[in-house]
Amino acid sequence: MKERPRFPARLDFSVGKPTPNQPGSAPARTPVKAAAKASVSLVPQGHGMDSSAVRMNMVQKLRQQGITDPLVLEAMGTIERHRFVDSALINQAYEDTSLPIGLGQTISKPGVVSRMAELLRNGATGKLGRVLEIGTGCGYQAAVLSLLAHEVYSIERLRGLHDKARENLRHLRLANLHLLFGDGMAGFEKGAPYAAIIAAAGGEAVPQAWVDQLAVGGRLVAPVSAGATSAGKQALVVIDRTAQGLRQTVLEAVHFVPLKSGVA
Ligand code: SAH
Repeated sequence: MKERPRFPARLDFSVGKPTPNQPGSAPARTPVKAAAKASVSLVPQGHGMDSSAVRMNMVQKLRQQGITDPLVLEAMGTIERHRFVDSALINQAYEDTSLPIGLGQTISKPGVVSRMAELLRNGATGKLGRVLEIGTGCGYQAAVLSLLAHEVYSIERLRGLHDKARENLRHLRLANLHLLFGDGMAGFEKGAPYAAIIAAAGGEAVPQAWVDQLAVGGRLVAPVSAGATSAGKQALVVIDRTAQGLRQTVLEAVHFVPLKSGVA
């Protein structure tokens, strides 16, 4: 991302544009160049769309946005995002837009998923160890993470989405991905300590449990509200646990669904 702030980052909401739901986005158009190269039609045909070429085009755009981590780009090119959205939205599956997944929740933009994954990996050469994701949603990001880590625990507080994610993920048979139903505010003690923790929902602060469950050398990436003065505004926050203590960095503005307590 050209606009990525330099370290130490300041909380400046003019830096990154918030990325609200864009339910009115136009359906995906077939890029002319890619269509010319591909041997099969790229026109989405229900569930049978030639997603590989469309996905490669998405990965190319992620590169242009500044994503460089080869493992992240590979994972984004591998996981079929169109399998995680409702059939009516399949045409938009590879656009850089968030989409509704039911129960008032959204699947994050590919740009945001890859940005957070890259931050989480922090330049690691191999796979991460154990990762905790708060907010499984439709399971898309969990699937991406499962290719970047040895073990992934993903918690969802809404039963309907937890079940939907299980259904969406079945075809992938990801043995290292564990879906949990519960309140992720408390983290997941049994899997701790984590090499990385990622939240897909934003609260007013990072719950202490997450920080406690982070391994030394581990990194947490979460959207956090900027406080009472800028209602609703969130920024991406990175917390590194080092042997010397915690280091917090505030990055660009983001727009995530709220972190809520309890289950439903
Ligand atoms: N990563 C998801 C994004 C889903 S949106 C995807 O790829 O689809 C964020 C999700 O966080 C929502 O499903 C919401 O229900 C969930 N969430 C919010 N607060 C939570 C909490 N305390 N514990 C677990 N999940 C939570």
